[in-house]
Amino acid sequence: MRVLGLESSCDETGVAIYDSERGLLADALYSQVALHADYGGVVPELASRDHVRKLLPLIREVLAKAQLQGSDLDGVAYTAGPGLAGALMVGACAGRAMAYGWGVPALAVHHMEGHLLAPMLEGNPPEFPFIALLVSGGHTQLVRVDGIGQYRMLGESLDDAAGEAFDKAAKMLNLGYPGGPQLALAAESGDVSRFTFPRPMVNRPGLDFSFSGLKTYTMNTVAECRGDGVLAETDRNDIAAAFQEAVVDTLTIKCLRALKQEQLKSLVIAGGVSANRALRTRLEQRLATISARVFYARQAFCTDNGAMIAYAGCQRLLAGQSEGLAVQVRPRWPMDELADLQGNGGA
Ligand code: ATP
Ligand code: MG
Ligand code: FE
Repeated sequence: MRVLGLESSCDETGVAIYDSERGLLADALYSQVALHADYGGVVPELASRDHVRKLLPLIREVLAKAQLQGSDLDGVAYTAGPGLAGALMVGACAGRAMAYGWGVPALAVHHMEGHLLAPMLEGNPPEFPFIALLVSGGHTQLVRVDGIGQYRMLGESLDDAAGEAFDKAAKMLNLGYPGGPQLALAAESGDVSRFTFPRPMVNRPGLDFSFSGLKTYTMNTVAECRGDGVLAETDRNDIAAAFQEAVVDTLTIKCLRALKQEQLKSLVIAGGVSANRALRTRLEQRLATISARVFYARQAFCTDNGAMIAYAGCQRLLAGQSEGLAVQVRPRWPMDELADLQGNGGA
């Protein structure tokens, strides 16, 4: 089965074609980062309009790359939530309409299920059951995964998401927008032992997270170092290193706790922050000591992309699931309301 996947939940337009027999055939991505940079955050109306401009050219591009025509496809999958309503509507309307035109089924994909399954696109994918750490711009969640659609939420952030915390800390350090990757880069040149940032909530039992205190701590440290002047580059790098270390340490502690609690040996990390090298390395080291393994997607498939939507959609279409003709999006959509592949548990 060949499935076209469309992602338009936020500020990336992603399109891909996944073939259940041959794997990923083609993918293309357009990032709107430059469009929103002046505003220091995503402007929803500008995002929707840009998806309208970019979606069809990207679809033509992936069809050409895969040397296929629309009529060669067996289904269309689009992100239906969670995300920005207007942005989601663009992908959902286009996806639903094209599927109708081609006479093939359409499927509404949950964006976080897309992230969660992205490591399945790599060689040597994880086997169920596993623990998933979803760490993105809008989510920080630990999930027990027993199969596609069989998700049990074990813990989540009570305030900011990990990626959001990275972006806000980066902004305080004048590292641009969105600053997660730049903060990670600055951290590489920093002295990680100079400051010790708090590890929020690690001394309490449970698997929830909180990152807002870390944000305040970062702000105060920046203010102390800067005084009345500008922040020196060494200070900036040292703060970045201490911030990253605190996040990586906190995430690692909770992942180990979740693996132990559920008696599992496989961990999947997904979402933008799973691209972070320090996090990957730390988890690899720590999991090796308990004979457990960590799985993640290639860098480009950690952040938003069409491939993960095509893959997730393909699995559900293969199981016979599909949507009616109505175009529906769910800007808020709890992941544990998803049906499994047998159709059980949907809400
Ligand atoms: P969600 O998936 O929750 O709806 P989103 O789609 O905006 O949110 P993603 O695209 O998965 O989020 O990830 C983007 C986030 O990942 C940003 O906050 C970005 O700063 C962060 N990020 C990307 N690369 C890195 C990195 N190397 N280190 C730390 N953070 C990173
Ligand atoms: Mg983005
Ligand atoms: Fe995302």
